[in-house]
Amino acid sequence: MTVARILALKGRNVITTAPHRTLDEVAKILAEKGIGAVVVTGADGEVLGILSERDIVRAVARGGMTLLEDPVSKHMTAKVVTATEEMSVVGVMEEMTRHRFRHMPIVKNGRLAGLISIGDVVKHRLEEIENEHQALREYIATA
Ligand code: AMP
Repeated sequence: MTVARILALKGRNVITTAPHRTLDEVAKILAEKGIGAVVVTGADGEVLGILSERDIVRAVARGGMTLLEDPVSKHMTAKVVTATEEMSVVGVMEEMTRHRFRHMPIVKNGRLAGLISIGDVVKHRLEEIENEHQALREYIATA
C-alpha cells in the first residue's frame, strides 16, 4: 500500500502553524484537535519545521512554564524528514522507526500534501495484514 492510498482515505488536511506563534498557542491547538504535532509553514506554505508535543514537554522540563511564551521557531525541529505519496506505507514505517518520530509530512512538488502519523501507518498495516489473512483462509477453504 502507498502513502497516496492512506491520504485518499484520511484526507490531506494538515494542521499548520506559523513560526512566530507561541508554544502555548500550539499546545492549545494540539489539545483541541487531538493531535500530536503541527507542521510549521512559511508565508508561501513552505515547510519550515515540525513541532510535536515532545518538543513542548522538553521545553517545559528544561525551562519551566515561562518557556510556553517562546516562539515555535525556537523549539521546532527545522530539519524535517518528509516522504512522497509514491512511498510505501512499510517504507514510511521504517523511516519513523529509524528516526524515532511519529509524524511524517508528505510533500508533493515542494508543497505540503498531507501528514501521516504512526497511528495511520499501524491502522492501515493491520487492515492490510487482516485482508491478507482473510484471502489465505478463503484460499485454503476452497482448495
Ligand atoms: P514525535 O515522535 O513525532 O512526537 O516527535 C519526536 C521528535 O522528532 C520531536 O522533536 C519532533 O520535532 C521531531 N520530529 C517529528 N516528526 C519529524 C519529522 N518528520 N522530521 C524530523 N523531525 C521530526
